[in-house]
Amino acid sequence: MAADPQTPNSDTSRDFIRDIIRADLEAGRATGVVTRFPPEPNGYLHIGHAKSICLNFGLARAFGGRCHLRFDDTNPVKEDIEYIQSIQEDVRWLGFDWGDHLYFASDYFEQLYEWAEHLIRQGLAYVDDLSADDIRAYRGTLTEPGRESPFRTRPVAENLDLFRRMRSGEFPDGARVLRAKIDMAAGNINLRDPVLYRILHARHPRTGDAWCIYPTYDYTHGQSDALEHVTHSVCTLEFEDHRPLYDWFIQHLPVPSKPRQYEFARLNLSYTVLSKRKLIQLVRDGHVSGWDDPRMPTISGLRRRGVPPDALRDFAARIGVTKSNATVDVAVLDHCVRDHLNTRAERRMAVLDPIRLVIETYPEDGEEWLDAVNNPEDPAAGTRRVPFSRELLIERADFMEDPPRKFFRLAPGREVRLRYAYFVTCTAVVRNDAGEIVELRATHDPATRGGDAPDGRKVKGTLHWVSARHAIAAEARLYDHLFARPDPGAEGDWLDDINPDSLRVVTARVEPALAAADAGRAVQFERLGYFCADPETSPEKPVFNRTVGLRDSWARLQARGAS
Ligand code: ATP
Ligand code: MG
Repeated sequence: MAADPQTPNSDTSRDFIRDIIRADLEAGRATGVVTRFPPEPNGYLHIGHAKSICLNFGLARAFGGRCHLRFDDTNPVKEDIEYIQSIQEDVRWLGFDWGDHLYFASDYFEQLYEWAEHLIRQGLAYVDDLSADDIRAYRGTLTEPGRESPFRTRPVAENLDLFRRMRSGEFPDGARVLRAKIDMAAGNINLRDPVLYRILHARHPRTGDAWCIYPTYDYTHGQSDALEHVTHSVCTLEFEDHRPLYDWFIQHLPVPSKPRQYEFARLNLSYTVLSKRKLIQLVRDGHVSGWDDPRMPTISGLRRRGVPPDALRDFAARIGVTKSNATVDVAVLDHCVRDHLNTRAERRMAVLDPIRLVIETYPEDGEEWLDAVNNPEDPAAGTRRVPFSRELLIERADFMEDPPRKFFRLAPGREVRLRYAYFVTCTAVVRNDAGEIVELRATHDPATRGGDAPDGRKVKGTLHWVSARHAIAAEARLYDHLFARPDPGAEGDWLDDINPDSLRVVTARVEPALAAADAGRAVQFERLGYFCADPETSPEKPVFNRTVGLRDSWARLQARGAS
């Protein structure tokens, strides 16, 4: 079982960030640990964010510190209250709690503005009238130094005046920006007079129309960390080149604390896209049913699919934290999910692709209720009763008329066990006019009821089944990877790599007990996989999402070409 994420001192992980923190604490460079998870409220959280959440909240727990949830809401155009709510729900669902430490970068707008004036007064920032295109052209390249803007030498008083007028709304969008005055010849392009403020006459979800200039990410992030007394500001590797700028601001501003930035490798997952831009496109263009479509790598999609939060935490722990970018095989996630569901999901019988099996030796109107084990991994889960009758449904794939050597399921003349019921022997097949097999006939051995044969004879196959008369129809949504190749977009347009078979909907026949499954309830359909009742489920029309399949030994044999 996974440890409670909020329990201190249960952390046994080791990684380079934990090593840095231990060293900082031992050397007295830090007296406590404060981290933050800083999402931009411009989309739903995905499994990559889950890695960051588990890391940041995990560090706080491991070192007896705290982790803040801070919305990095500096871009009013893309942000939305819906995202702010979903993000909080998802972090809580993952098992983490920020307590009173919920913050918004927009709460610091006034302080950030004052500090910008401070930089101007120190001669460290200036208002630039160059257009966005010119600023880009003047910036230079990795091999060529940039050129200084003609406005770089503006006197302090003029800069202050213009910046105040930017704030008061005198100028249209894009007319001017405030830039730091650092070094246009710096090898690191981020230090070539980065933009601190841009003019944007846009309504902000939280500050409304109070502002028409907005600070950039780079100018906001470190100062927000400093204001919150964050000690270790952990972000992904693409910010490594921004660290000198992060430090420059901290060094030149009268901030109340001196946070340090550390970078780790972001999560990439095979068969998956994790760019927010792409996820938004999948939703907007209707490739999926919404942010919580069970094929989406979003936390809400994984939840709806039936992935338990502790499986995600376990996944995060298992993949670890490193400094080199790599792609994790999505099979690792599936493994963690199976691991957790195996111990907790009750077993039920369901048939996805039924064929009728008539037990000729069983009375026409006979019926009995047999004991079935709810979870062999958990004796406390007890047993339930399942109805048996003369006409059953079994999985079409569990019968072969002319079976290859290693096929141990039903075949003409072959005896198998019907789980929790009887040994049955196939005696005949019934065909329709087109020659297709539509029904199987069998006899049963009453002496094997619910157990083994008294004479000790063995069978190699055990099949699941439902009673045709008692079974109820349920919609089963069978999900596969949303993308058909492990590296979507590696050759050509990523949208062309969408898997056309990522969702197959079938009408399953399920044992009656499943009609009452509550939404979110995880079950194992025996021999088929883990399923979860969808929010759309109802007693009239049960709906189940396949969370993950079981490892199918026969399918594996076939894949290896054995027969
Ligand atoms: P955007 O392109 O919109 O900035 P983003 O994925 O960086 O997208 P943020 O909301 O800025 O989204 O991310 C919040 C935090 O989650 C950041 O600290 C970011 O580094 C981290 N994060 C984002 N994607 C991943 C990922 N794939 N693996 C690990 N951490 C991630
Ligand atoms: Mg980001």
